Amino acid sequence: MPELVYTPLEDIEKKRTELRNGFKSGKLRSIEYRKYQLLQLTYLVKENAEKLEEALAADMGRPAIESRFIEVNGTITETLGAYNNVEKWAKPEKAPFNMTWFPMKPTVHKEPKGTVLIICPFNYPIWLSLGPIAGALAAGNTVLLKPSESTPATSTLLTELIAKYLDNDLVQVVNGAVAETTKLLELQWDHILYTGSGRVAKIVSAAAAKHLTPVTLELGGKSPVFVDPNCDLEVTAKRILWGKVVNAGQTCVAPDYVLVPRAFQSTLVEALKKQYAEFYPDGPQAKDAYARIVTPQAYNRIKGLVDGTKGKVAIGGETDAEGKYIAPTIVEDVPIGDSLLSEEIFGPVLPIVPVENVDEAIEYVNAHDHPLAIYIFSRDAEFKKKVLTSTQSGGVGINETVLHSGAEGLPFGGIGPSGSGYHTGKHTFDIFTHLRATIDNPSWVDRILSIRYPPYTAKKFKA
Ligand code: NAD
Repeated sequence: MPELVYTPLEDIEKKRTELRNGFKSGKLRSIEYRKYQLLQLTYLVKENAEKLEEALAADMGRPAIESRFIEVNGTITETLGAYNNVEKWAKPEKAPFNMTWFPMKPTVHKEPKGTVLIICPFNYPIWLSLGPIAGALAAGNTVLLKPSESTPATSTLLTELIAKYLDNDLVQVVNGAVAETTKLLELQWDHILYTGSGRVAKIVSAAAAKHLTPVTLELGGKSPVFVDPNCDLEVTAKRILWGKVVNAGQTCVAPDYVLVPRAFQSTLVEALKKQYAEFYPDGPQAKDAYARIVTPQAYNRIKGLVDGTKGKVAIGGETDAEGKYIAPTIVEDVPIGDSLLSEEIFGPVLPIVPVENVDEAIEYVNAHDHPLAIYIFSRDAEFKKKVLTSTQSGGVGINETVLHSGAEGLPFGGIGPSGSGYHTGKHTFDIFTHLRATIDNPSWVDRILSIRYPPYTAKKFKA
């Protein structure tokens, strides 16, 4: 595992100055040049897909096929999507026709904000850094990327590849942890996109407020699953389990816990056991079967939550500190107030919380922070409608988990404590775009609109 070289603190401001100069150079005023950079970004991923997958495996033990499906391909969709659409996205828009205003040619220009800061978490380090870089470049901004220090192999590789493939007047990387990010946050930026935990989001927001810098926050939280006994049981179990085990549960939209009618709990648990056996015929610890926990600290935190539960472990529970391995673990009969319900699990542990009925489940969810996602498994249109209309969340997956976050065209973002602002595709372009409103008023308009000029005579008032 390579050691991540942290950027010297004294170099950080210099990098910001270089990027400001890069912005002033006007290179990115040219849509052609933006497209060139977006193509380079696409080549960066395509030509190095295997190396990136190896780095992700070194950092998180993630199977290559999982990285290809959930991260590498999705990143190419983002970079290529920006390449294909940048002309359309960046085109000025005329205001809707209005008799009074149309002679002044009211127009909205899509302008870059300037030099922006993108701070990334560890869990999807390629998708959550290169996707936002694509949106920021498409909008004409220069970018400082701060990758996570918890994925040294991937962050080292990203740093090398960005230096090699992209124009370094326009994109640079700062590596490091709290001290380096704190230094970055002392500086003024034209926008900050922060993806990570709510705890650090408060630090980022407070620092940004000192400069009145606009901020987009992509956070996490506890995303609940509502299970209706009237569901396709096999598909329900398969999709819930997949959402939990992919990247070993280290996914912002992972199903965090399941709310199920008490009488249906054992049926659901049996179905989950069956899927578990099908997913892992040689056990989850087998080579290339399943990811590992990112750091010993994260391993200890998740293990602590399981050790503290009053629920009953139905599947899994095995751990290995040295390998940072926590088996996919399903815990049933988890009571309200349990350790597993105290914070975002962000690991491969699925608490099942028995409730009397859907009303009790809705009440529980509404008594807590708005989650990033809500999942509903049901065949009943009324059940789906009831949960949808009685709750709030960033997004919703009906009879599915996780995938809505990558669906092309959909905004991906939280609400309240799960985040503010939206990303992926055109939504990322919008984060980094200033809508500059202009009018260009010909002199002859004064023949019609001279009423506005003093003196304010009684005759004008009547006109
Ligand atoms: P984190 O908040 O610990 O770290 C994210 C970034 O913040 C890192 O680059 C880190 O160096 C920096 N950081 C950490 N402590 C800091 C401090 N005190 N001051 C300044 N900077 C600091 O998050 P993580 O553990 O890497 O990621 C997990 C979290 O991210 C989860 O809550 C997850 O739900 C969330 N997440 C959200 C999305 C989304 O799109 N909504 C996507 C992925 C992850």
